[in-house]
Amino acid sequence: MNGKFYYECTNCKATYKAEKIMYLCPVCAKENHPDQPPKGVLKVNYDYNGIRNRFPRIDFFKSLKDENFLSLLPIQAMKNWPILRIGNTPLYKFDQFDSSEITFDLYLKDDSQNPTFSFKDRASALVSAWAKENKIETIITASTGNAGSSLAGICASQGQQSYIFVPASAPLAKLTQIVMYGATLVPVNGSYDQAFDLSIKASEIFGFYNRNTAYNPLTIEGKKTVSFEIYDQLNHHIPDYVFVPTGDGVILSGVYKGFEDLMKLGIIGKMPIIVAVQSEGSNNLIANISSDHFSSSPSKTIADSISVDIPRNFYMSVNYLKTYHGEWVTVSDAEILQGSVELSRSTGIFSEPAAAAAFAGMMKYRKTKKIPSGSKVVVLLTGSGLKDLKSVQSSIHLPAPIEPDIQALKQIFN
Ligand SMILES: [Zn+2]
Repeated sequence: MNGKFYYECTNCKATYKAEKIMYLCPVCAKENHPDQPPKGVLKVNYDYNGIRNRFPRIDFFKSLKDENFLSLLPIQAMKNWPILRIGNTPLYKFDQFDSSEITFDLYLKDDSQNPTFSFKDRASALVSAWAKENKIETIITASTGNAGSSLAGICASQGQQSYIFVPASAPLAKLTQIVMYGATLVPVNGSYDQAFDLSIKASEIFGFYNRNTAYNPLTIEGKKTVSFEIYDQLNHHIPDYVFVPTGDGVILSGVYKGFEDLMKLGIIGKMPIIVAVQSEGSNNLIANISSDHFSSSPSKTIADSISVDIPRNFYMSVNYLKTYHGEWVTVSDAEILQGSVELSRSTGIFSEPAAAAAFAGMMKYRKTKKIPSGSKVVVLLTGSGLKDLKSVQSSIHLPAPIEPDIQALKQIFN
């Protein structure tokens, strides 16, 4: 373990040395109750002044990139990083969309091109590398599906063992991935939240290292790398807007943390407008932003990856939204499906419903002319559509087979 970074509690602001495995702030965690978002989620901080002094040149960011952002990651060296390509995903710019001109610059960050086809590989890679550095061989996680299939795949590449707790209702592709990667799959008859609580008990009783998001503080450090990449891919400019699919608020916090690190280092002068996009059927984060007492409604949405009853990173993400004047929007399942179809047909990128939700959120903004012309707009596409084929079936029609002769074909083409 090392003194390169330290933890700060989101709620009480206590700081802790990073000398051992830490999850939640032990003081705040005492107050936690299962029907409320957990307090005490820890944030990783670095010696930002020290880093600034080490990279005094104008092309500061380039120097950081040359060492794979290592100065801003809670690991000692890259030698334990997975051999698979993590991150470095494409940022595509589209000038036209649904046959109409776009008055702003639309960029799609396609994170379905990670090894296990989702954004979650960024977090799994870092947790796995940290575990390897600290001679930990078994990692456990609860997941709606993507984090689990991600951890299973990354652990397979690293010779590590993984135990994955998911709601039994998780999409078949994700369950299949987990088993194919050789992980131990534990389907739970219950919600993600129940799988989450069970995995923490398992971690306490059996001693396994836990990757759960908004529990293990390192996941945000992995997720933040997407912001470094976006800044780099925009030729060292920040975007004006970033649309982020939002469930428990961890990806949202990761995106903020990346840009915040760059602000603390003096590389960028301001924060982009980050737009949290939730499904109307699972809007427990947005619905509680301004309320004094958190109350949860049961989630029901086709976007399983962002379907959560208790947003685990509620306090950190809401704090980020308020501090940096973030915005938020909800989209219906119908809008998500429509977004999924439009995205696929206009760009050739087939995203899963959660990612399509972020896209649908951008489309909603576009319709209401909230995006000034000339803005740089990034939509974060977090997972592949192949991970959840069932949810889009209602929006497509698979043609009936034809006889293999030209007469039958003529009936289709005429
Ligand atoms: Zn605390």
